[in-house]
This record gives sequence, structure tokens and C-alpha cells, in this order.
Amino acid sequence: MKEPSAPGYVDIVFDIPANQVFTYKTETDQTALSGTVPGRRVMVPFGARDMLGYAIGRREAPPQGVALGSIKAVRRVVDSEPVFDSRDLELARWISGYYFCGLGQALAAMIPSGKRTGDYPSLSSVEEITPSPLELSEEQKKALDAITAPADKPPLFYLYGITGSGKTEVFLRAAEFMLNQGNSVIYLVPEISLTHQTAEAIGKRFGKAAATIHSGMSPANRLTEWMRIRSGEARIVVGPRSAVFAPVENLGLIIIDEEQDGSYKSGNTPRYHARQAAMRRCSVEGARLVMGSATPSAEAWKLMQDSEIKRLDLTRRLSGGSPPEIIPVSLEKTSGCLTEELKEEIRKTARMGRQTILFLNRRGFAYFYHCNSCGYELTCRHCSVSLTWHKSRSRAICHYCGYSVTPPKACPQCGSLEAGFTGFGTEMIEEEVRRTFPELRILRADADTTGKKGELKKTLDLFRSGEIDILLGTQMVAKGLNFPGVRLVGVVLADTGLHLPDFRAAERTFSLVVQVAGRSGRYFPDGKVIVQTLRPQDPAIVKSCALDVDGFFEAELSQREALSFPPYTRLIRFTFRSKDAERADKAAARLASIAAPLLPPGADALGPAECPLGIIAGSHRRQLIIRGKTMGSLHAAAGEALARYEKGRDSRVYLEVDVDPVSLL
Ligand code: ADP
Ligand code: ZN
Ligand code: ZN
Repeated sequence: MKEPSAPGYVDIVFDIPANQVFTYKTETDQTALSGTVPGRRVMVPFGARDMLGYAIGRREAPPQGVALGSIKAVRRVVDSEPVFDSRDLELARWISGYYFCGLGQALAAMIPSGKRTGDYPSLSSVEEITPSPLELSEEQKKALDAITAPADKPPLFYLYGITGSGKTEVFLRAAEFMLNQGNSVIYLVPEISLTHQTAEAIGKRFGKAAATIHSGMSPANRLTEWMRIRSGEARIVVGPRSAVFAPVENLGLIIIDEEQDGSYKSGNTPRYHARQAAMRRCSVEGARLVMGSATPSAEAWKLMQDSEIKRLDLTRRLSGGSPPEIIPVSLEKTSGCLTEELKEEIRKTARMGRQTILFLNRRGFAYFYHCNSCGYELTCRHCSVSLTWHKSRSRAICHYCGYSVTPPKACPQCGSLEAGFTGFGTEMIEEEVRRTFPELRILRADADTTGKKGELKKTLDLFRSGEIDILLGTQMVAKGLNFPGVRLVGVVLADTGLHLPDFRAAERTFSLVVQVAGRSGRYFPDGKVIVQTLRPQDPAIVKSCALDVDGFFEAELSQREALSFPPYTRLIRFTFRSKDAERADKAAARLASIAAPLLPPGADALGPAECPLGIIAGSHRRQLIIRGKTMGSLHAAAGEALARYEKGRDSRVYLEVDVDPVSLL
């Protein structure tokens, strides 16, 4: 028996890029606590200040070699109840190992920050599950049967079908099945706009059993919702990427809607992919995984071809309506940003009392400033990117760091007046649309106009209620929204992403056009999509306009295979950042020479080289990519190389590791 007055010790990790565990003691009056502290967050002295840490375990005595006197005491236990348990810790260890980050960084990504503030209202006050009145189609039934069939080791499933083919309904039925069996469900949706809608549908269907987590919630509310899940009150969780970590018990099913969506990959450390984390959880916890989309990722497509994922097809539109007519139109001979074809369709749509969505993947008024006499381009002083003209603010702005200048009247290099902005953004289209259609009601939704909380929802509500004729915007208007009044979708410039130096550029463009096209004709049989492009012959444009997913992937995958890019290989990317270009160069060269002899047979290294975005916010960026047939041996080589690199590393170069990177910019 331990003396009640003996101090206890807890092991603590911090949200820092190191895999180090620190030991603290709990003061005598906390002794009783030390056994229960693990799983909670604590405030402890760390260097000169106090820092939040995650208590991952307790110990009877300090670790060997650590002097008793040097051990500091926990100042405060932040959480009254544990916010993570041993299962979460195991997942965090996996994240930390696979994505090369600190254990504390992994925990910080998993657990909502903030302090619990009492109760968070359920999505719904309805107690029980309300079954759907819909009768499933034959295809839906087949899919549901496959997903719910008893199996020792269930395969991964992919629900593949166009927008409106009833995927959501199958997801909800599968979830209902699992809940009725006493299991829990995690339902992942892309970051933007979808969450709210899906949450509402799930709240209606599953009542108090449903919980939502989204980025619009305050950290405190998120944590409170988290605890409602942990307590078992909520058993179906809908949310973006991080909801894959929801602390549900008896996980039965993870659903990943719009599987190809870029927001499933984290843009900062740990750079985890929700799909990968979901696969891990499902295999550890014996749960099923169902993904779904009209436009799968190339990775998923190949896995379906290889029968590693079981594909379930939904081929019919159940919402009525039929796939829209999609017409590619060349922009080459048009002076403004609207072709005659698009203008004519906007007019026609307005005469029918219906609505138009105009889509462009780019904010601002015009794109880059170019001098026709000497070739000068106006770029950011801190980043290697062109500045974008924002007319409403009379500034040319950098979209990476926010740097801005007043646009020059003449070329700053040669003084020529044959200089100005070319290309176009949402702001410029808005102006041209207003000029061309003064009688129509137009609203723009992009990051500039919807910065304020709730602003986007207001805009979309107005559009839904029919108060607006034309909705103009970026991605925000493209995804997941079902507007019954929409007849026409205009993609103002489809190829904005095609020129990017990234092997996924074509895949993204293809996917985006098909997704955007899916907005139209969802409820009516006469939907129309006009896709304006400067490259009408580009395969990504041709195939997306034909909604030819098979054709696109056939060509795309054979090209990926020829060039040894994913999904035929796996990548690990190292990005070096420094204010000092030479230091960045040196560090990249050093890791490259360390890694070279460690690479497994058949693997190779690309670079070191300057990143396509060579400077961001004054930091010089270099990259090294290693590439191999399988992840196992490549990952081991990367781990060993990093360990050797750590010794004698230049502290003024910041290194970022990205396992399975999705962007190479
Ligand atoms: P998806 O997720 O593939 O876009 P949804 O599941 O949202 O498709 O279904 C599209 C529309 O079709 C919805 O309005 C839904 O209510 C309706 N729907 C789905 N399944 C059926 C069905 N079996 N019978 C009739 N309507 C259905
Ligand atoms: Zn010039
Ligand atoms: Zn900049």
C-alpha cells in the first residue's frame, strides 16, 4: 500500500514537434488524483512559462536517471473528466508514427481545445429514430445488403453514383442498421457547407443520438459535444476530417462522403488523411468503411479496379431529373469573361423564372499584371506568386500572405502603358454580369464577401428562397448544395487549375467540373451546364463534359503509371523552409544525401529542388520527394533518414514531413 502522502508522477506530452515524454509530480493533495489524471489535460511549468500538456500515463517513481529534485509539479488539472482514453492514445501513437509528428501534436489534432462549459443542446429533442418513408430502389437495396451483410472481415465499400442517385439515403440506412445493432457511426463530410445540411438531415432522422462537430463551433462547444459522444449519449457523429477521431464506443461504421475531397487531408501537422485514419480505426476496431462519390479519387478508383475496395454502383437518378446537358465552350475569341452561349442561356433561364450559378475557382477582380512591352509581371515581394487585383479595395493583393500594393498606372520596369491585369476573378465577373444583366438580381459568395460568420448561410438562404437570380462564387457554391430552382450552371473558366505543376491537376479539374455540373438538373429534367475553357481539347475538360469517369481514369491512370506517380507509387515529401535561401538549399541537400543510400530497391528521390511556390511570406521553400512502390520500406527509410538528419540539423531551417502528400505546390 502506498502512503497517502507519497507524491504520484504523471507522464506528459506537449503539442510540440518532438517525441519526448516529460515526467511531473502531482503534489501531495493531488496524490489521490495521480492515478486518474491520465487522459486529462494539465497545466504545467515548461521552461519559463506554463504550458498545456496531455497526461498519457502515471508512474510510481520518476524515470531512471532523472533527479527527484528536478521534477516539477503539475499546476492544475484542466479537465474534470478524461478527454481521451487508451484507445485514443493508441490511435495517436499510430498518427505520430505514420505521419512523423510528436505524440502531443497527434493528440492536439484529435481532441478539441477549449474548456467544457456545461451542456450543449442536442441537435434534436426527438428521442427516437425516425425511419425513412422512402422505399429503396433495387440498386440501393443491393448496396445496403452488401454493406450490412455479416462478415468476419468486411471489405471496404465504395458507393459510386452520380449526384442524386441516392447515396445519402443508403448511408443513412446503413447508419440506422448499425445504431439498431447497438453500434456507433461516424459520418464524415467535406469541410465546407455540407456539414450543416447533412447534420440537419441526421438530426431529423436520429434525434438525440446524433452529434455534430464542425469548424464553425466554438472550441468549448466542440469539447462539450465531444464529451456527449464520449459518454455514449450521442452514437452517430457527423463532421469534417477531425470527426474521424470521435470517441465513440463500439464503432460499427465509418462513412466518408465525397471521398475525393481535398479537405480530408490536413494542411498542417499532423498531415493526416481522414481516409487513412478511418481505415486504421476500422481495422483496429473491427468496423466497416463505406466511401462514396460521383468522382472517386484516382487512388480509390485503382483500388476498386484491383478489387481491394468493393464497388457498389448506383446508376439511376432517383430525385427525378436527368443528368444535365454539359456543353464546353471555347473562351478563346471572347473579349470579356462571358461567351455569347453563356449569356444566351442566362437570359433564357431568367425568362423561365429559374436560377443560375456561375462558378469560378478564383477570387478577386483580375489575375496577374503583365506588361506587353517588356514582359514584366507584378508579383508579391514575399512570395513567388502574382498579385491579384481587388477592385473594390483598389489594391493588388497576394493570396498567400496578404501583402498588397496600389496597382501601377504604367509598367514599373519600362514605363509602357501597354501593361495591366489579365485573366479574371469573381469580382470582375460580377461587374460584367451586372453590366450585361442590369435587370437581374445578382449575389457573390466567396471568401471576400462571406468572411463574417453566418454571411454565407444568409446568401445561400436568399438564393434558395428565390430572391436572387444569379449566384456567383468560388468553391463555396460548388459543393453539396441542393437548390431546386437552379437550371443553369456556368463554369466561367474550367482550366484555372490545369496549368499547376502538380500531377493531380487534371484529376482535380475533372472532379470539380463533374461536381459543379451535378448541381444543375437535380430536380428538373432540363438542367444545363456551360463549361467555358481556353483548352477545349484538354482530356480533363472533354471527359468531364461527357461525364465520362471511366474514360478519364483510363487515360489518367495509364499516364500515372507511365510516370510512376500515385496510385502506382507512394510518396513522402520533405519541405524545407528558411528565411535564408542558402540554408534551405543546404538542409535539403543534406537530407537528400543521407536518404539516398537508405532507399529500398526500386525507390528513388525527386529533387532536392525549389518548390513550385518557391517563396511564401519571405520563407524560401525547397523540397525533396522520395518515392517507392510500397509504403512500408519507404517509410522505414524516411524514419531512419530523419533520425540521422536530426543530429546536427540547422535550427534555422524548418522541416515539414508529408506522408502521402496530396499537393506538391
Ligand atoms: P446522392 O447522395 O447520391 O446525391 P440522395 O441520397 O441525396 O443522393 O438522393 C437524392 C434525392 O433522391 C433525395 O431527394 C432523396 O430523398 C431521393 N431519394 C433517395 N432514395 C430514394 C428512393 N429510394 N426513392 C425515391 N427517392 C429517393
Ligand atoms: Zn514593361
Ligand atoms: Zn505574398
